[in-house]
Amino acid sequence: MFAEDVPLSAIARTVGTPTYVYSTATLERHISVVQDAFEGTRHLVCYSVKANSNLAVLSLFAKHGAGFDIVSAGELARVQAAKGDVQKVVFSGVGKREDELAFALSAGILMFNVESREELELLDRVGRAAKVRAPFSVRVNPDVDAKTHRYIATGLKSSKFGVPFAEAVDLYRWARRMKGVVAIGLDCHIGSQLTDVKPMIEAVGKVAGLYRLLRGEGVALTHLDVGGGLGVTYGTEKPPGLAEYSKAIRTPLEGLDATIVLEPGRVLVANAGVLLSRVLYRKPTASKHFTVVDAGMNDLIRPALYEAFHDIRPVKPRAGKKLKTNVVGPVCESSDVLGSDRTLPVLEQGDLVAVMTAGAYGMSMASTYNSRPRPAEVLVSGGAFRVVREREQLNDLYRGETR
Ligand SMILES: *Cc1c(COP(=O)(O)O)cnc(C)c1O
Repeated sequence: MFAEDVPLSAIARTVGTPTYVYSTATLERHISVVQDAFEGTRHLVCYSVKANSNLAVLSLFAKHGAGFDIVSAGELARVQAAKGDVQKVVFSGVGKREDELAFALSAGILMFNVESREELELLDRVGRAAKVRAPFSVRVNPDVDAKTHRYIATGLKSSKFGVPFAEAVDLYRWARRMKGVVAIGLDCHIGSQLTDVKPMIEAVGKVAGLYRLLRGEGVALTHLDVGGGLGVTYGTEKPPGLAEYSKAIRTPLEGLDATIVLEPGRVLVANAGVLLSRVLYRKPTASKHFTVVDAGMNDLIRPALYEAFHDIRPVKPRAGKKLKTNVVGPVCESSDVLGSDRTLPVLEQGDLVAVMTAGAYGMSMASTYNSRPRPAEVLVSGGAFRVVREREQLNDLYRGETR
């Protein structure tokens, strides 16, 4: 198996395992396809940094003109370090701290996506202290069912995200009397791994109605942020293509005087990456067969956290007999399973496997649980590759600690 023109085995030989491997060509293709799908409209693609926050990935998207959707001061620092355009940054998240608001305001970001009355109040204070008006959107909760896993659905009224429509209208009216904020947009994000455009059409339609109402009241909105969430194929899902997705968003927005802000994460990076791992042990038991590999839930938590499916493939094709096995990691948790009941060729100790579609919410969610150093990250381009994040070392694990 290759990443572009580089055999994955060559990467494993020089960098070791577990290692995340990303393809430049795929990342570039994805950002272009998303941007092209909205050609002819005023739009801004703000890559959702939390999906994969490696500086090399951010820098590549920045070079393609992308903005960024951030959820913390740390992500803003990453965008700055990657030489991203801070004026194209939108700041999402339900729990921004005062120092984070102040940092982002002084950096000069495009807008804050405000998620509560108290956040707007604090943003106003921060703006007045800095003697500027902080540009904001209210993130509304359109109360639609995104039909995705309950842990990644965010647009139902029972969710912690956003504010109800009626409250949003109140917030915009209230904000007119404030000196430290200025309303420039309206925002929603209904969830992740969407495989059907219907909830998106419903949400965008509702939000467009609210945008018109607010403009009618004289609120000078210029940006309509429709969030991210477009799904990818991990197994058998059939997510809409970019043309269909773009149409689902553009149609309800026809005639609306707004810059469409998009916050794609997963769709840009998921299929651009694999997690490369090595088989440690084969372990047949009376009831099940286990294949123990050197990547675990600390490296890729999606299967344990969301019951997510990732295809697992041998790097070197092996002909012959196949075996049903549970591919598990070394972490001391029963949920540390990368793939259960997988029919794979009979693998040998030392064989390499690739956990597919691991470019999104892989490394960015990795931890050092069980005091396991986090994986290295490698970016391939054509026949060359480079390490874009060194493997963590043992003494990195207790940096800052004292005896
Ligand atoms: C996570 C997130 C996104 C990106 O979601 P994807 O499913 O990766 O596209 C966009 N906007 C907000 C507010 C988010 O929290």
